[in-house]
Amino acid sequence: MSVEVHHGVAGFRRACDNARAGGRRLGLVPTMGALHAGHVALVRRATELSDTVAVSVFVNPTQFGPNEDFHKYPRTLERDVEACQKAGARLVFAPDVDAMYPPGERTRVRVSALTDALCGASRPGHFEGVTTIVLKLFAVAGPCVAVFGRKDYQQLKVVERMTRDLLLPVEVVGVPTVREPDGLALSSRNAYLSPEERRRAVAIPTALGDAVRAFAAGERSAKVIGSAVRARLQAAGLRLDYVTLADADSLAPLADADRVEQRALLAVAVFAGTTRLIDNVVLGEDPAPAAEPV
Ligand code: AMP
Repeated sequence: MSVEVHHGVAGFRRACDNARAGGRRLGLVPTMGALHAGHVALVRRATELSDTVAVSVFVNPTQFGPNEDFHKYPRTLERDVEACQKAGARLVFAPDVDAMYPPGERTRVRVSALTDALCGASRPGHFEGVTTIVLKLFAVAGPCVAVFGRKDYQQLKVVERMTRDLLLPVEVVGVPTVREPDGLALSSRNAYLSPEERRRAVAIPTALGDAVRAFAAGERSAKVIGSAVRARLQAAGLRLDYVTLADADSLAPLADADRVEQRALLAVAVFAGTTRLIDNVVLGEDPAPAAEPV
């Protein structure tokens, strides 16, 4: 079946209303496009959970900082539509900025506490942009289920919190991170990496894998686990934005003196050259993302 591409809010809203008629379920996968196998996994999961899947492709300006890559972010709509069709989506929503932010707009959605640390600390305003656009997409599509990647673990937790707090009738579902064979998490931003930076970037899944193995072997010191990850990333020539162990639900950072009990989020953000890459594992829950190097 072919994909219907909508650029306007009214037409997309009508298509979503039709998709929901007769009690049928609509699934939504919000993306910024430049789709890869990670996005495809989200679409496939959405097809299992709903009757019709809509994918939004929108590079959302309000979640980018003034010195970030909004203008150079890859835009590949034609290929994205093809990928959506292959993955089983029926609707694609690709609005322009004015459609999502009407002239004179003044409204932002902010989730507190969960956005204080990690990417919230290094990208001021980022999550306000994310929650604002996700709420707008929910308002237009009215999805029964919305699917997000655990690669952006903090985003998933923030969206879950917003959905509960605002009593939105949407089930939010998280999908495990899809990785390259060497463990690097797929990301639209990987396209920016030079071959040398790409080689260095494999230290990210390797460091996270080492932490998972250390945890499995009984290491519980936040300081020891965090220091080993930092050392490995720096040895590979990556510049640290943050390496943080945090409560996997509240996202409150652990102190060096803390012990990781049942589970904890280990999240990293690094720069390979000028490209910022993020990744995470939940210790005590996720498998090691990369095999031990031989
Ligand atoms: P983005 O287009 O980067 O805004 O991502 C759109 C959605 O795809 C978000 O829910 C991301 O968490 C998810 N996503 C991005 N990369 C991956 C990946 N490697 N594996 C799973 N989900 C991903």
